[in-house]
Amino acid sequence: MVQTYKSHLLSKQQLTHNVYLFRFGLDEPNELIFTPGQYMILFVPQSEDEPASPGLQRGEPICRLYSIASLASPNSALAGEGGTNSFELLIEIIPNGLASEFLLKLDSATEVTFQGPAGQFTLAQNNKDKVFMVTGTGIAPVRSILLTALTNSQPTTHNSSPITNYQLLWGLPTFKDVYFLEEFKQLAAVHSNFTFTICLSRETKLSSIPEEDRQFFKLGHVNDNIQLDLTNTDYYLCGSPKVIESLKSYLAANNVEPNSIIFEKF
Ligand SMILES: Cc1cc2nc3c(=O)[nH]c(=O)nc-3n(C[C@H](O)[C@H](O)[C@H](O)COP(=O)(O)OP(=O)(O)OC[C@H]3O[C@@H](n4cnc5c(N)ncnc54)[C@H](O)[C@@H]3O)c2cc1C
Repeated sequence: MVQTYKSHLLSKQQLTHNVYLFRFGLDEPNELIFTPGQYMILFVPQSEDEPASPGLQRGEPICRLYSIASLASPNSALAGEGGTNSFELLIEIIPNGLASEFLLKLDSATEVTFQGPAGQFTLAQNNKDKVFMVTGTGIAPVRSILLTALTNSQPTTHNSSPITNYQLLWGLPTFKDVYFLEEFKQLAAVHSNFTFTICLSRETKLSSIPEEDRQFFKLGHVNDNIQLDLTNTDYYLCGSPKVIESLKSYLAANNVEPNSIIFEKF
């Protein structure tokens, strides 16, 4: 159910030149129940002294949507919905963006209003394998989905037969834009049903990447680096509208059924 939350900033971590991880603590109500993949609506206050944003009254807050990037239920033994008294947002700071500037300047003393959770970009309840094809901060809802699904399942060994395989293909421009590498390496080390590849679209060689990490990288785009399975796999796409349209066209041209494609446009 969508609710209004009063919160405050707990931490702000800069991950790259333009991507930050924000953690918000909930004050009232103090628990958020959400399904991994859902988003929150941020209310950005506007000054009465400034001209109104298009379509709004003077002083009326503007709304921006941000996918929850963190684990749903740290203490739950079950995957799926879970409660938490804080949550993370992964945000690309857009120069002169209204919400971006607000978030960049935010301190822990300022009350921040959210509504949520909302959205349908959540795991379908089936036993199909899951392939995630995401670009940039499109990793945010997928991180929440993967952390929750894998952390709440038993670790697998290379000899066991996992029920569901999770494959992540994550597109970023260059090696300097990479974050969460250690986290995904650790997840893959513990869960043999999780593999990931970071696809660097603007690098021409992988030699600048430390040798031990090179296995996790490929050159090119996410769809350059995939073997499609048409029978037992769902494809989850997240990124800009242009990227999503292009990936949907690619999957459709390769005979993936529309009902096996789940997407979120940022
Ligand atoms: C369901 C959903 C979930 C989302 N989740 C996330 C998330 O987890 N992390 C995240 O970072 N964003 C996410 N977004 C995007 C987010 O809602 C904002 O659109 C984004 O942060 C820009 O807001 P802003 O107010 O800072 O910029 P605005 O003031 O809206 O835009 C300023 C200018 O920048 C342009 N602009 C807007 N976005 C971009 C962009 N990505 N690249 C280049 N130029 C741009 C605009 O056209 C405008 O000219 C999500 C969007 C949706 C619909």
